Amino acid sequence: ATFEDLGLADPLIKTCRELGFRKPTPVQRVVIPFLLQQRHSHLMALASTGSGKTAAFCLPILQHLSEDPYGIYTVVLTPTRELAKQIHQQVVALGSSYRVQSALVVGGLDSVRQSCELDQRPHFCVATPGRLATLLRGPQPPKLGQVQYLVLDEADRLLTPHSGFERDVAELLLHCTSNKTRRMPCQTLLFSATMTKSLESLQDIAGSGLGRLPL
Ligand code: AMP
Repeated sequence: ATFEDLGLADPLIKTCRELGFRKPTPVQRVVIPFLLQQRHSHLMALASTGSGKTAAFCLPILQHLSEDPYGIYTVVLTPTRELAKQIHQQVVALGSSYRVQSALVVGGLDSVRQSCELDQRPHFCVATPGRLATLLRGPQPPKLGQVQYLVLDEADRLLTPHSGFERDVAELLLHCTSNKTRRMPCQTLLFSATMTKSLESLQDIAGSGLGRLPL
């Protein structure tokens, strides 16, 4: 399959070519058409770093975003600052033809500046859970009520009990998905390198490793 076969728009295909992506990786071949077609389904995919999973969720999200930009559109949560930075850089590169705005919201960087960036309603917020949850509890919480996609990258680590992420992730999940005045329901996308107990129980509900999760 080629990127064209997957249903991606021309500007995104061009960007892939410019970035040297010659053909879609296995996870991209499954996830891209799924997300282009399913506007109401949650998704769980087993994919490790290096599999091309970032582009797998970014490209279809960018395609939807180009049709209907509204508020902070996508929140990506990941366990480490370094992973957040890498994802942020990929979002900016993949979204260059749409001049996509992404805010990097991680510990160790100026939180006042991050808060100001979020006030500008970037299309993407790529964050570690601790810092984003801290901002949410602060005096000027970012407006996440219209988030269309909540991506949990390395979901196995984010959802491990007693990992230190649990409470922040649960709070952010609730915040992004519970707004009654939403225009569309938020889709939750989980990517994980390994299957863990917490994910298994979610998978039982979904019925398969990749599919609909009534979270
Ligand atoms: P990830 O699994 O998202 O961490 O991606 C790993 C690396 O693979 C990133 O640096 C991407 O730029 C690159 N990449 C993603 N998709 C492709 C592709 N289809 N062909 C070649 N490289 C890719």
